[in-house]
Amino acid sequence: MLILDERRLLGAWEAGLFAGPVQRALSLASAASGLPCGELARWPLGRLDSLLLDVRRNCFGSELTCAVGCPHCGDQLELVFAVEDLYVRPALWSQDEEAEHHVRLGDRTLRCRAVTSEDLLALPPDQPAELVRNQLATRCLLDPLDDDGGPGQWAEIERQLAELDPQSDLSVRLTCESCAHGWDAPFDIGLYLWAEVDAYARRLMYQVHRLATGYGWTEADVLAVGPARREFYLEAVPA
Ligand SMILES: [Zn+2]
Repeated sequence: MLILDERRLLGAWEAGLFAGPVQRALSLASAASGLPCGELARWPLGRLDSLLLDVRRNCFGSELTCAVGCPHCGDQLELVFAVEDLYVRPALWSQDEEAEHHVRLGDRTLRCRAVTSEDLLALPPDQPAELVRNQLATRCLLDPLDDDGGPGQWAEIERQLAELDPQSDLSVRLTCESCAHGWDAPFDIGLYLWAEVDAYARRLMYQVHRLATGYGWTEADVLAVGPARREFYLEAVPA
């Protein structure tokens, strides 16, 4: 079962602490699955996201809450939804990894593969969106492309690649209660899960600190005590 026990959660948190969002998502997936980051980095993004949804559900439950500002009137919306609402079935890329996929440009059909974390990690930081599209398309197209299509062509390839891997391109439909404005907000399970793991890890380390100070326990001693018993010791420990 894909789960992060507290020891692996702390390890994944430490490995991702000073890394970017792509590496953080890989670090969490690797700690939960036991697969090396290098292997997971070659998975289609949607397959990795699907694994992270499993990890979220197994570790923290199915209910997700988000606070979002309405882009029209600025009111804060509290949104509650379920992990199960976010799975896209069938997951195209994980069903048949050997299958060929295609993008269509005018009358041309070009073979392509899914975008992976490795592709994202290969992008130099802080580039304009147009250059990013160009580089992702160049990496993921398996047939040569005439270079005269211009920016419109890159955007079209990006759109079709996202369509081929819908699990990697999640959004949640929102309607503002104050002004009735409706929009699709992007949802990134990697960012969401990292924020939860970050909060959990910091709370846990603080507990280790208090119990180490109070009883002389080591970190391993604290982690060996389950959360319910730990709660008792935290209440009882002299301030
Ligand atoms: Zn509004």
